Amino acid sequence: MRTPLIAGNWKMNGSLALVDSFARAFAERGIPATVEAALMLPAPYLYAARQAFAELPVALGGQTLYHQTSGAFTGEVSASMLGDCGARYVLVGHSERRELFGEDDAEVLARVKAALAAELTPVLCVGETLEERDAGRTEAVVLGQLAAVFDALAADERSRVVVAYEPVWAIGTGRTATPEQAQQVHAALRAHLATYDPTLAEGLRLLYGGSMKAANAAELLAQPDIDGGLVGGASLQVDDFLAICQSAG
Ligand code: PEP
Repeated sequence: MRTPLIAGNWKMNGSLALVDSFARAFAERGIPATVEAALMLPAPYLYAARQAFAELPVALGGQTLYHQTSGAFTGEVSASMLGDCGARYVLVGHSERRELFGEDDAEVLARVKAALAAELTPVLCVGETLEERDAGRTEAVVLGQLAAVFDALAADERSRVVVAYEPVWAIGTGRTATPEQAQQVHAALRAHLATYDPTLAEGLRLLYGGSMKAANAAELLAQPDIDGGLVGGASLQVDDFLAICQSAG
């Protein structure tokens, strides 16, 4: 049985005031006990969120990390620093990082390993562009991104990763993959995971991300291989985020 995970990704948005207002809303309205909720926050807000959410069933995560543990890497943040500030998760390989900051599969692997070494759970993001989908290359692209990391991990490391399928053409565009399109890719991801180990494939959580919102979450989350959501824009509105959590409950 895979516990659904609804992870909000605030991207470079929000404020300390928003952290506090989410904490108040979560405390007043609650989160379904059958769902795990997490917020991937800008790093400067994590420590304050750790305090504000101390009594709440909401996990915290970073949006990126650097693969080195410490040193002369001005501006970068290590896995252990995220952990110190309350993060349990960290996004790795988000398409915005791949596209805008040039993170390739080798860098993504190094960051996944750094996260695991610091006892964080990496949320590995994979997804195809519209051009790749139109060329019939969706599965080749996402399975390639998955294999670039999973081939290089030990068995016990693989089971500590969460995978998020995020079609690039659906991120922040208002255009969502249909439940059937998403399910097809999730099933292919799970089948690939089974080539490492059927038990791994059965237990690993696969999230869908790409314009998930209150209005479409229920049908996406009802798909057999969709175990939760990575939610960008809609995670900035506490009503929407809580409604998505309800849909998963
Ligand atoms: C994301 O940033 O991971 C994402 C899925 O964004 P949105 O929900 O806004 O498409």
